[in-house]
Amino acid sequence: MKLVVIGADAAGMSAASQARKRKKPDELQIVAFERGHFSSYSACGIPYWIGGAVEDRDALIARTPAEFAQAGIDVRLRHEVVGIDLDRREVIARDLDGGGERREGFDELMYAAGAVPVTPGWAQVEAAGVFGVQTLDDGTAIKEWLATRSPRTAVVIGGGYIGVEMAEAMVRRGLAVTLLEKSPQPMSTVDPDMGKRVAEAIRGLGIEIRTGIHVEGLEISDGRVRAVVTPGGTIPADIVVLGLGVRPNTELAARSGITLGAKGGIRTDLRMQVVDCPGVWAAGDCVQTVHRISGQPMYAPLGTHANKQGRVAGINLGGGYATFPGVIGTAVTKVCELEVARTGLTEKEATHAGFEFVTATVESTSRAGYYPGASSMVVKMIAERRTGVLLGAQIVGREEAAKRIDSLAIALWNRMTVEDMTALDLSYAPPFSPVWDPVLIAARKATDAVHASQQG
Ligand SMILES: Cc1cc2nc3c(=O)[nH]c(=O)nc-3n(C[C@H](O)[C@H](O)[C@H](O)COP(=O)(O)OP(=O)(O)OC[C@H]3O[C@@H](n4cnc5c(N)ncnc54)[C@H](O)[C@@H]3O)c2cc1C
Repeated sequence: MKLVVIGADAAGMSAASQARKRKKPDELQIVAFERGHFSSYSACGIPYWIGGAVEDRDALIARTPAEFAQAGIDVRLRHEVVGIDLDRREVIARDLDGGGERREGFDELMYAAGAVPVTPGWAQVEAAGVFGVQTLDDGTAIKEWLATRSPRTAVVIGGGYIGVEMAEAMVRRGLAVTLLEKSPQPMSTVDPDMGKRVAEAIRGLGIEIRTGIHVEGLEISDGRVRAVVTPGGTIPADIVVLGLGVRPNTELAARSGITLGAKGGIRTDLRMQVVDCPGVWAAGDCVQTVHRISGQPMYAPLGTHANKQGRVAGINLGGGYATFPGVIGTAVTKVCELEVARTGLTEKEATHAGFEFVTATVESTSRAGYYPGASSMVVKMIAERRTGVLLGAQIVGREEAAKRIDSLAIALWNRMTVEDMTALDLSYAPPFSPVWDPVLIAARKATDAVHASQQG
């Protein structure tokens, strides 16, 4: 039996490793094709490497092809799969360093080609100094540009978490940074009232934020970007970083006849097998999943899901049984000292899903007020009006604020009501929280809001 993997990062190599745990090399041959220069790397760490918090690029690489070879997994870097023939059960792989194309047969296929950055027409230009941030190769190209061209001005286009993390990285490298966002606020993955606090923190770093901006084009001369053109004028840029989101990298899959779902990702069953394609598996940023709270299909390109989905696919490929039950939209990031976290639905998402809900927002502190280093923390909860079941939560604060979202994610996953949550046995000591943890205070306030709305 032979397994061919397309894409040798989080999802692909999690699947390969799990399959290998269950099947020895004489039972299952595994070949993974990767068009980039690296296998099993942390794309999530790229902004911290560029910003200097992580010194060594190799620290972002979890396992090299040589290490995979020792485990009996054949990783072929710089090999791009350019065709899939599902009838003949073959892929066509192109050696990007001039070795030509060859066909490779498979019994099982793992499609883990990730995502591609969204690149509008104005960004599809041949200009040095314009970068997407998706793979470690992209990160390497940015790092080289910073080292060799000594840019002084950076424009980051897109205020999602990757844009924000990259803007911070550029500031840390000493550049004057402008962040452009088409929405009224950056970080539109949280509600506007919470996003306002994030915007203040970003400005506090010295980053200029311009919101409501629709970029019209790039000014290029001598093959190099010079400025970003907006309706309000041009903004000088020695480097432009695109953070406009990503879409599933499914062109190759679609060409082979694999049907895509409503969100553009590959549709799989619970075991991560592609719907209507026996022996073809998919996981990670190229698939769509389901939101457990809204029940709707969604696209959630995050490393945490890619690893779990890849693991599930690999267990099944190796003859075991595992399922991926969907996601609840938990995510976390930071802007300098400010941490931002969310789980479940935002107000906008809850409305879109058809819920009637109440909200409660509290401002408290990270530690007992008298304990040195206590800092402000804002917790917002969204609860279903009729049942009081938690639908979503957001946290903005400093040290140790963000990871508090995990207790909220567990409550949400288990469909707790906000009233049940008021009694949760959360830990307390002055260095760690006030006697009423901000999460508990928010649950109390949300419970009051639920009761008030039920009486009203
Ligand atoms: C800057 C940045 C920060 C992030 N931060 C976080 C975070 O903090 N938390 C979080 O959960 N997630 C984060 N993510 C998202 C996370 O990195 C991705 O969700 C995860 O890497 C997806 O894994 P994947 O294996 O599906 O795809 P990828 O990691 O994109 O891997 C796909 C691989 O397939 C290769 N490939 C594509 N097409 C072909 C082909 N035809 N032939 C051969 N190879 C091919 C690509 O070169 C790539 O290496 C971040 C992403 C970025 C870019």
